[in-house]
Amino acid sequence: MAAEVKTTCPYCGVGCGVIATVDEAGAVSVKGDPEHPSNFGRLCSKGSALAETIDLDGRLLYPEIAGARSGWDEALDLVAQRFSETIAEHGPDSVAFYVSGQLLTEDYYLANKLMKGFIGSANIDTNSRLCMSSSVAGHRRAFGADTVPGTYEDIELADLVVLTGSNLAWCHPVIYQRLAAAKAARPNMRIVVIDPRRTMTCDIADLHLAIRPDGDVALFMGLLAHLATSSAIDQNYIASHTEGFAGAFAAAAALDINDLLERTGLPVMQIREFFRLFETTSKVVTCYSQGVNQSSSGTDKVNAILNCHLATGRIGRPGMGPFSLTGQPNAMGGREVGGLANMLAAHMAIENPEDRDRVQRFWGSPVIASKPGLKAVDMFRAVADGRIKALWIMATNPVVSMPDANSVESAIAACPFVVVSDILRETDTARHAHVLLPSLGWGEKDGTVTNSERRISRQRPFLGISGDAKADWWQLAEVGRRMGFAAAFDFDAPAEIFAEHAALSAFENNGSRDFDIGARADMTGAAYDELSPFQWPQAAGSSPGVTRFFADGGFYHADGKARFVAVEPPATDRTNADFPFTLNTGRIRDQWHTMTRTGKSARLSAHIAEPFAEIHPRDAIDAGISSAGLVEIDSPHGQAIVRALVTDRQARGGIFAPMHWNDQFAAKGRIDALVAPITDPFSGQPASKNVAVAVRPFRAT
Ligand code: SF4
Repeated sequence: MAAEVKTTCPYCGVGCGVIATVDEAGAVSVKGDPEHPSNFGRLCSKGSALAETIDLDGRLLYPEIAGARSGWDEALDLVAQRFSETIAEHGPDSVAFYVSGQLLTEDYYLANKLMKGFIGSANIDTNSRLCMSSSVAGHRRAFGADTVPGTYEDIELADLVVLTGSNLAWCHPVIYQRLAAAKAARPNMRIVVIDPRRTMTCDIADLHLAIRPDGDVALFMGLLAHLATSSAIDQNYIASHTEGFAGAFAAAAALDINDLLERTGLPVMQIREFFRLFETTSKVVTCYSQGVNQSSSGTDKVNAILNCHLATGRIGRPGMGPFSLTGQPNAMGGREVGGLANMLAAHMAIENPEDRDRVQRFWGSPVIASKPGLKAVDMFRAVADGRIKALWIMATNPVVSMPDANSVESAIAACPFVVVSDILRETDTARHAHVLLPSLGWGEKDGTVTNSERRISRQRPFLGISGDAKADWWQLAEVGRRMGFAAAFDFDAPAEIFAEHAALSAFENNGSRDFDIGARADMTGAAYDELSPFQWPQAAGSSPGVTRFFADGGFYHADGKARFVAVEPPATDRTNADFPFTLNTGRIRDQWHTMTRTGKSARLSAHIAEPFAEIHPRDAIDAGISSAGLVEIDSPHGQAIVRALVTDRQARGGIFAPMHWNDQFAAKGRIDALVAPITDPFSGQPASKNVAVAVRPFRAT
């Protein structure tokens, strides 16, 4: 009898429910879970191919020290010893964890607890820094806490959906399917796509604004100034529930029309049409993703968008609100447990002494980190200059995915002690590890993830464990015990960790924040096994969770009001005579991150088999580049050699290249080697979509 197990897709932040079936012969098949509220049975190409990516090929099956097989005790003793010695000699800030939105919430919770509460440093950051940290910073500035106001259903209920910096069709395909179905059912629904490229998402758009890179702040400032003089402005909401409108409006009104046209690069008629649609449609949802977040002005972009929703009171009601789409399966779960260097567990703030005291008392920990730690780009700088001397990397491949990836690789290679926990033995990063720890893969893992709409779902095991692999939370707990913190890391199962996390979220009312899943604090193992998807918050005695926030105010600043943020349009053009093109990096439909899993599926690779760079036909002619010819892309930081894809989907002056490939799959496919380590001043998120490069035909020497 084939066994069916309900679990969650491990790729993007949509968080689709999956039913995995293992037949008598051990063959695995997957289908969408019709009862999961995120996807109602749908899956995209990546989710549908999950069974093709879980074979043993390339798996790391046992711990290794210096390339030789070891036992777990030997490896864990060495990790604990080297971290303890480094801390004793150089202090707690001489060590760091670099983790991942692929980790389950229980893994993330223990990594954060060990680093912030027991080592006493906040040097734990995550590849989610590259994904959505500008949204976190924008939410905290506007709302006083990192809270997503709405739910996926709002995207279907809206009469106008604005997609800015989001290629929904390829990057959040099941939400795109839901949106396309809603538009087919309600032909009056309007969709506006704001993106320098004419992506597949534009296929269902009524209006495509091919904006200049980083022109979004100016566009939404112009929109705010327009709304302020229209009937769409909601003076009652502004007066009752917000502060700072006058300053934000004054900044927006100072942007004159010529400046707006220049900064956005858009025709005036298109801008007018967008403003008219936004003004005259009550039910508006603005979805934004990496095109907004991955920018040196990412946080200001987020706040420029939030300003427009606050000014119209279009937030937290059915079919209305700003909506940050997270990239990774558990980017949101990491936010919940303090997986970012500038956050504490349970959405508490590391800068707040009362929050620090609350968390420390709850943990009974000897110390608590007293200041924010190093964010991803700064963390690898600190590895490079020797301030970080021991580094534990979990479930991510920064040698491919970090900006300035060549420098990151050199830094890791020179670090005195590097631990890598992964499912694969030979990633570009694992190659530099002194200790390799084998982790559980999808189908073996047991825990929870949280998707973009705050919905917590279970990942459940349905496969036997490969070799001697162990859960990431177990590895962390064992190292914590060996470092002398046995009582605090005495966990035997992920359900126990989840229950502690839930109890902390409710402890002393969580500093009056609404991130409270206290209803789950006394969860038994059996209840954890049966856990159905639910949205946070869900305080003790309440059910179900809260679907929407802020329709009637109730923000998390001390006065209960939201903040408008007065933003300034940033400088947008980084090009110069030597590097005259703007590189925009991104994802393709059928690959995930650095392809360590999706790269195994021939079906997925059939979609696009090679790395490429999209370039406009006129630019290709001017540069002597032929269609499908090889091109060399150079920046001050690195070089890539990929195939040219000549297409008018790409605007002039820019190129688009996917970030998935490394130098194993292609001669030189590591696009993040080109990306400058420029970051947003508030979020620390790198500017991966506005990189000055040179492009020329590749000529063998
Ligand atoms: Fe998985 Fe995202 Fe596709 Fe859903 S949309 S199946 S979560 S990759």
